[in-house]
Amino acid sequence: MTPLFSDELISTIAERISIVDLVSSYVPLKKAGKHYKGLCPFHPDTNPSLIVNEERNLFHCFGCGAGGDVYQFFMKFHNCTFHHAVRELAQRAGIRISTKATSEHEKRAAEAREQAYRLNTFASELFHRYLLKGDGAQIAREVFSKRGITPSIIEEYQLGFAPNQWDFLLEHIKRHKFALHIAEDLGLIVPKKSGQGYYDRFRNRLMFPIFDTSGRILGFGGRAIGDEEPKYMNSPESFLYNKRASLYGLSHAQHAIRSHGYAILVEGYFDVLTLHRCGFRHTVGVLGTSVTSEQTDLLARFTRKVVFVFDGDPAGKKAAMRNVEAFLDKGLQPRCMFLVEGHDPDSYLVAHGPESFNQLLQNAPHALYAILEEKRSEAGSLSPEQAVEVLNDITPLVSKIKNPIERDLHVRTISETLGIDESLLRAELSNYSGKVRASVLGREKDAPSTLFPEERLICVLLVQFPHLLDEFKEPAAKRSLLEHIRNEHVRTIIEQIFQEHEQTGTISLSRLLARVQGTPAVELVSSCACTEEVAPEQALRALNDSMRRMLLRDLREEARDLNRKIREAEKRQQLDVCLELSMKKRELLQRGRDLMGQHRP
Ligand SMILES: [Zn+2]
Repeated sequence: MTPLFSDELISTIAERISIVDLVSSYVPLKKAGKHYKGLCPFHPDTNPSLIVNEERNLFHCFGCGAGGDVYQFFMKFHNCTFHHAVRELAQRAGIRISTKATSEHEKRAAEAREQAYRLNTFASELFHRYLLKGDGAQIAREVFSKRGITPSIIEEYQLGFAPNQWDFLLEHIKRHKFALHIAEDLGLIVPKKSGQGYYDRFRNRLMFPIFDTSGRILGFGGRAIGDEEPKYMNSPESFLYNKRASLYGLSHAQHAIRSHGYAILVEGYFDVLTLHRCGFRHTVGVLGTSVTSEQTDLLARFTRKVVFVFDGDPAGKKAAMRNVEAFLDKGLQPRCMFLVEGHDPDSYLVAHGPESFNQLLQNAPHALYAILEEKRSEAGSLSPEQAVEVLNDITPLVSKIKNPIERDLHVRTISETLGIDESLLRAELSNYSGKVRASVLGREKDAPSTLFPEERLICVLLVQFPHLLDEFKEPAAKRSLLEHIRNEHVRTIIEQIFQEHEQTGTISLSRLLARVQGTPAVELVSSCACTEEVAPEQALRALNDSMRRMLLRDLREEARDLNRKIREAEKRQQLDVCLELSMKKRELLQRGRDLMGQHRP
């Protein structure tokens, strides 16, 4: 979709609204040195970690990493789209946005979406009414009531039943004159093989509408009433519904997640509904056994803390392992809770009640320990070999924890639990990140998420001290800097800064943020803009230092790579190759010495 607002408009609005005014209308702020400080509204914060930078009109939380400009704050606080934030803030800034600018094409697309939402609502209403009153729905009503689903839950979540007919929905769609092609796009009806006419996709199924966070229906989950296959049938992907990016129940759970400070994750529809009924309204369903990265992104908008609830069977435990990695990758804090074998959350609650469930929930260990405990109980007592094996399994997970303090804490506990020396685990860890970097260099310069300290500092300097851009007047200087930057977000930011500076001669952070809108680069910009690690008079020196460190880093890795190749060539007794590689290595070492030489005053 083409953007509805111009870069110009976006930055004009951002410039008219003071971030201090905006944030302090929600959170009390106190002046602290150059900046303002306050308790972060996006994570349970006791020690003010939210920094508001008046001069650059940005905020950043050094506790949870949230950050950005007025738009990011508004979107995150109200959990709304960028589009919505622009409109609201424009109003606040007294800027009128004309709606005439939208093109014919956009208008038609918007109309189609509107119609699609209406059609989904219509279908949901139909299935819901049929469940409540339909002659053929007796069996569905029994299933729901047997699972403890009360009439008020049925009402609130608009549960329904699609009868065992080929044209139940189809006939109603026709009668109410909805466009059949839209119903087909939404996957409510399916064209017949003969090419003539349609039939209903959902037949003889319990129907669970899937809402977005503003309560509109994106699609449906249909569950077989008996043992028919497939047990679950969802709406296919459509221009409204993206299965990978939705969580069942989030629409109803979002406020509870915010107020509890964490989310409970379960697998199925009934688990979500039962937990909501029992007062655990901060529960969402992943609808499958693997969490997708889109789902973790979505969840991260509400909380950084999650508790997985898994069935205690081996399949559930396998699923846990898979998902933990996805969550650590995104900087979230996953805890795990396994139910005793044979139970799912639904059956556990029925058998043991909410109090007992809550106990388990409160005591759920960090996912790392859940896994550790699992491995330990599998093996009984650990032999040294087994301890090493467990260590091998767990190190990659520990290496994914981004916060160094948190990682340190886990290292200590894990080594205690395994009865191994702490330094061993640390060595293993550094080895691990070393491995990742080396293999990355071997393939391509592509460590998209690793943030090297020297690259981060270069980013800090260019964001904070635009006069340093004079050092990169020559296109060759620009190219050479960008070639060495490996973190994709740092590279994007610096590219944008170069572009902007070339075109306008200045840097506007709000325009920069609008361009990287919706990517992790946003929070990187705000964190770079809100630190005070370099004094202005030290800036140039710090830039040169960081550049040198980055070049040396790459030289060292290249040398390591060459050494490996030399050893291989030696093994194969390819003397010519050896010679050539050794020459290269010498050149490399010389370049390294030159760089180090520059360092000396
Ligand atoms: Zn925070």
